[in-house]
Amino acid sequence: MEVKIYGVRGSVPTPGPSTVRYGGNTVNVGVTLADGTRLFLDAGTGIRQFGRDLLASGHRGPVHFLLSHRHYDHIIGLPFFEPIYRPDFEMIIYPVKGEMTERRKPRAEIFDGIHTPVRLDDLPSKRTYVPDTEEAWTIGSAPGSRIPLNHPGGAQGFRIDDGDGSSLVHLTDNELNPPGSRTTTPEQQAEFARGASLLIADAQYLPEDLPAKSGWGHSTVPEVLQLGRAADVNSLLLFHHDPDRDDAALDKIQEQATEFAEAELSRGPALVAAEGMTFQLGADSCSLVEDSDS
Ligand SMILES: [Zn+2]
Ligand SMILES: [Zn+2]
Repeated sequence: MEVKIYGVRGSVPTPGPSTVRYGGNTVNVGVTLADGTRLFLDAGTGIRQFGRDLLASGHRGPVHFLLSHRHYDHIIGLPFFEPIYRPDFEMIIYPVKGEMTERRKPRAEIFDGIHTPVRLDDLPSKRTYVPDTEEAWTIGSAPGSRIPLNHPGGAQGFRIDDGDGSSLVHLTDNELNPPGSRTTTPEQQAEFARGASLLIADAQYLPEDLPAKSGWGHSTVPEVLQLGRAADVNSLLLFHHDPDRDDAALDKIQEQATEFAEAELSRGPALVAAEGMTFQLGADSCSLVEDSDS
């Protein structure tokens, strides 16, 4: 499986000179499975470049779309995803847990002729909606499953186990230790992510952001490092960066993560996500084959 990071930022895009190395686009991850199946996770502003790469690759066949939840930072790139304006493009859209079928067209909230000039029904591409009846699916030839996360309004995480033995887990937006009742415990999430080749996890906050932002639906860096250790993942990617975190602040987080990984993680690194990072995942490996500078 190949995984490319197109957007790393939470909440709102952060272009500008102070974020140029890690990137300012909101979250989007593109995946190519061992059998050539293409999918993407979330549709923040990073999806614009994913769409361009997809078209340039000459990929034919449907593209699978897994969405964590509908907060704007996760859907705002959709009108700028060029393939949806092509009649030969098909997108298979997986459900957000618990939503009714009719409500599962909320892309209409963007494609309503008001928020963008284009209406959903006028899009020439084909869209197929997977019914919200199963907790697990087959995506191409790969089993995919989901887990509810702790986030205001709800969110869901995903696991994809590819035919080549590699596995990807995507957990955003997610507060590992929320105040009050929780949907899923850290132990359940660690079990869900157990042994993954790559775990991509929401690590928006630092401990000093709490308690002011407790209950806002995001985890701290130390909590996510602990999750990576508990789940015994091969590699861990800290993701969904706070818009106030510039490159220098993310460098400091990378130093902490490297220190933790060398002492506590037996299998691989903990990295701060940057736009352009590309990983090649194997059954027991996760190699960074390209980074944001290339
Ligand atoms: Zn978000
Ligand atoms: Zn959110």
